[in-house]
Amino acid sequence: MQIYGAIEAGGTKFVCGAGTGPDDLEAIEFPTGSPDETVGRAVSWLRESTGGKVVAVGIGSFGPVNLASGRITSTPKVAWRNFDLAGSVCAGLGVRVAFDTDVNAAVLGESRWGAARGVSNSLYLTVGTGIGGGAMIDGRIVHGLTHTEMGHIRIPRDSVADPFAGVCPYHGDCLEGLASGPAIEARWGVEGRELAAEHPAWALEARYLGLAIADYVCTLSPERIVIGGGVMRQNRLYEMVRREVERLLAGYVERLPEIVRPGLGERAGVLGALALAQERS
Ligand code: ZN
Repeated sequence: MQIYGAIEAGGTKFVCGAGTGPDDLEAIEFPTGSPDETVGRAVSWLRESTGGKVVAVGIGSFGPVNLASGRITSTPKVAWRNFDLAGSVCAGLGVRVAFDTDVNAAVLGESRWGAARGVSNSLYLTVGTGIGGGAMIDGRIVHGLTHTEMGHIRIPRDSVADPFAGVCPYHGDCLEGLASGPAIEARWGVEGRELAAEHPAWALEARYLGLAIADYVCTLSPERIVIGGGVMRQNRLYEMVRREVERLLAGYVERLPEIVRPGLGERAGVLGALALAQERS
């Protein structure tokens, strides 16, 4: 059995894994530091934990990224800007590297082993420190010109009901600017996990996520939408979002997609990176 390596490269933490699938995955995580130190740590762990037997590595990276060059591009994290992540891992381990966005890796992982098994058209959305989405349509990850940026779509905001201007440094009140974890904290003055289940924050959150998902349903027609990320620990959101999507689409779309929790939990990203290594190497 060939052992593959996986790196879920996040803006605040790295998760590294090795194995062949969910049943034997060994993984560690550590905070994201400087590029050289963080990649050095990932490479050392992959080498040591597998006895040097890793045959290929998949990377699901925070972005934006250039998929052709394997580089991170216009991140606000200055030290990582234009960093050659895929090339550094490849040079460190001397094996092939498959590179994609973190959410594209996650939709692949959920589709192979998790909650999106059995359908050819699915989305994976993460709602946490940022918001992002990956789409699998007709069994293939959607890339397009660069890669999708589902967290940065513009959605209507009623500036009387919600005067908060949003936190996205590029767009202000795009979806991520209005509905990410940092947006919730900036709007209400406390982190989402400290807000009671009845707090009006959640109805507003469900509205914004519902507006975005209604757009994805109309443009991509997914069969199933998997939503993960720290904000979704507020479990009521799943049912609230389902109702909101149904209300917004107003009976026009004949069949609504299922909206479900990740089957792989917090491991969707790293297992997706493992699946990338297996598929593309
Ligand atoms: Zn934005």
